[in-house]
Amino acid sequence: MSVLPSSFETLSDKLAKLPGVGRKSAQRLAFHIISMPDADAEAFAAAILDAKKTIRECAVCRNLSESEVCTVCDNPRRDPRLVCVVSDPKGVLAIERSREYGGVFHVLHGVISPLQGVSPNDLRIRELMERVAAGAVDEVILATNPDVEGETTARYIARLLAPFEVRTTRLAYGLPSGSSLEFADDATLTRALEGRVEY
Ligand SMILES: [Zn+2]
Repeated sequence: MSVLPSSFETLSDKLAKLPGVGRKSAQRLAFHIISMPDADAEAFAAAILDAKKTIRECAVCRNLSESEVCTVCDNPRRDPRLVCVVSDPKGVLAIERSREYGGVFHVLHGVISPLQGVSPNDLRIRELMERVAAGAVDEVILATNPDVEGETTARYIARLLAPFEVRTTRLAYGLPSGSSLEFADDATLTRALEGRVEY
């Protein structure tokens, strides 16, 4: 039987479900939240609800967006015929960090992983193929992470793209395999983009 109120336990349990938050950190965060001024706690809860309500997927690239079409797809200075495929929105942030990229994106929202029960149908691969089939794309840069699942996903998509008249390339990672796009420094990302190879 806990010596703390059940509402505290509930809050702590919810926090413990967040990625990277263990039991102890969850309790520490819960103590912090209950010590917040009411207005701050309310603003915090409202921010969660607001983000959930307003953020959706861009109708074109499936990145997170507050409008029907995201700010990248909507930018006339970006080349819509050059599409960089990333596994998640963190990949978009990583590529944007290089400041060298002038194309647009396609966000898969995951990678193929039989172990985790993620199949191609769970990803936004069909939506990518629709963009390509519509003749809207000249080059697809496969920028999934250079780990086993990222490679499997890149190979799967490359096979689907083969019948289409589209150039398919893969980032030239100057990174050991098994690493993640997210943690690559800006210079490495720039080199990876510039040195991309036919796939
Ligand atoms: Zn978009």
